[in-house]
Amino acid sequence: MAHPTDHATEENHGHAGIHHVTAIAGQARRNLDFYTRTLGLRLVKKTVNFDDPGTYHFYYGDERGRPGSILTFFPWEHAAPGRIGIGETIETVFRVPETSIADWTQRLVTLGVPHEAPERRFGETVLSLRDPDGTKLALAGVPGIEAEPAWTGGEVAPEMAIRGFHGVRLLVKDGAPTADVLTDVLGFAETAREGAVVRLASDAAVGGIVDLHVAGDFLPGRSGAGTVHHVAFRAADDAAQAAMVKKLAENHGLRTTGQKDRNYFRSVYFREPGGVLFEIATDAPGFAIDEAPEALGSALKLPPGLERRREAIEAVLPAVA
Ligand code: ZN
Repeated sequence: MAHPTDHATEENHGHAGIHHVTAIAGQARRNLDFYTRTLGLRLVKKTVNFDDPGTYHFYYGDERGRPGSILTFFPWEHAAPGRIGIGETIETVFRVPETSIADWTQRLVTLGVPHEAPERRFGETVLSLRDPDGTKLALAGVPGIEAEPAWTGGEVAPEMAIRGFHGVRLLVKDGAPTADVLTDVLGFAETAREGAVVRLASDAAVGGIVDLHVAGDFLPGRSGAGTVHHVAFRAADDAAQAAMVKKLAENHGLRTTGQKDRNYFRSVYFREPGGVLFEIATDAPGFAIDEAPEALGSALKLPPGLERRREAIEAVLPAVA
């Protein structure tokens, strides 16, 4: 027997998982250099923080900026460092071909990037590293993904290139309330446990994993350079997003913000019970709305409301070229 919610669930099939991750950085030029050159991601959009237009907003991703590949930064030249703690995303993990882990280790050594020796997690080989602001990242070796699309316009060889997100790791006091929201509303299900970590996965190949690191009583996180601001999850369209908002309210007593137009997607935000700021972002319209696919990231793009202030905005943004 069909229930009214079955339709929304079906629409979400194949559209679950992480849409993007947004973090805070220090110097813009250093951030751009690390993500495009060292990690070989594509700068898919260069715009400003719509709520603070004197600050850049950089979007890095694959060649089209597909949902599940996008890491974004607000770089503040003089940002104070944040502190990792409860209620934060403590690691953002990318997918790379399993066969490339040794080459990545060598690359990080050669370029002087701080990193750990590869370790096994949930049966996968994972290489953890830090960006110049101390942001914790990792590369997970995934077998058989060599043929998947990747940006190869940078200096990272195609056989090594990042294939979107593997997932994120959240630090929470108690895993159950966060897992409830991920399971009931965002299309995830628990698949494994290892030590203090609960793994939840969705059906998305890219950006399909959320690991909950259950820490009990521990210091709360503090926002700042080197920390993640929020994690966005995918909604196929406005209707799917509205259904998720309704479910958050009815089943979990959680209220989201009103919908905000982010030009490349439409978003609502809420703080999940573990304290992490979550967003639900639509897949549409995507990054090709104001730039041709081959030109993504090449010009400073401003939303219509800020375009008339372009001269003043450009004057205060730090030079990055
Ligand atoms: Zn966001």
